[in-house]
Amino acid sequence: MGFGFFDPLYFIFIGPCLLLSMWASFKVKSSFKKWAGYRNSGGLTGAQVARMLLDREGLHNVKVEHVRGSLADHYDPTSKTLRLSDDTYASNSIAAAGVAAHEAGHAVQHKVKYPLLGFRSAIVPLAGFGSNLSWILIMIGSGMMIFMQGGLGYYVTWAGVILFSAVVLFQLVTVPVELDASNRAKKVLPEIGMDSPQEQKAVSQVLNAAAWTYVAAAATSIATLLYFLVRLGLFSSDD
Ligand SMILES: [Zn+2]
Repeated sequence: MGFGFFDPLYFIFIGPCLLLSMWASFKVKSSFKKWAGYRNSGGLTGAQVARMLLDREGLHNVKVEHVRGSLADHYDPTSKTLRLSDDTYASNSIAAAGVAAHEAGHAVQHKVKYPLLGFRSAIVPLAGFGSNLSWILIMIGSGMMIFMQGGLGYYVTWAGVILFSAVVLFQLVTVPVELDASNRAKKVLPEIGMDSPQEQKAVSQVLNAAAWTYVAAAATSIATLLYFLVRLGLFSSDD
């Protein structure tokens, strides 16, 4: 019985997921970089696109702010603020419009009380401390099992695994939430004039690549959970 980074079984489980993550993050950066070089047909900055889409939905109270960093764009439901980063806020590229529209999609989800968004927000705290504490419990528990022959160590390990399940759940719920925000973006951009075939293709490329990063993250956490369960002997009869 042993857990952790030096266990070859762990790499067998998460290896394909890590490759998928690397591929997805490469696609996000390369497609964004490519379409950041093309001006959108409205000549609107990301900030203007976001403001326009929010106002169309009556979301005049949602602020649009600039945040430092690259691809750090997000919608913050607690302060009702849409934050666009360096490459998006003041850029009038197709890529910037796509990202801004996606973030506005999250604000719309918030407004219409899209159920999975509410559920995701509700498990954020648990998933937040679970992502670190679960590993600590699992490491301590498996160490206890080696030196103390089962018993308490087993329960500590299981507590860690159950806590880690909250992280898995969070990553899983994130996928449909992100896809929905992207679908809203793809639907609404042609309505504000960004309807050339090239623009639609570009927006799809950027947003689909971003979706794959969430799929990869979910796959990685599921594979990690399965690895824990296999190591705990859940799938073997004679361990
Ligand atoms: Zn998003």
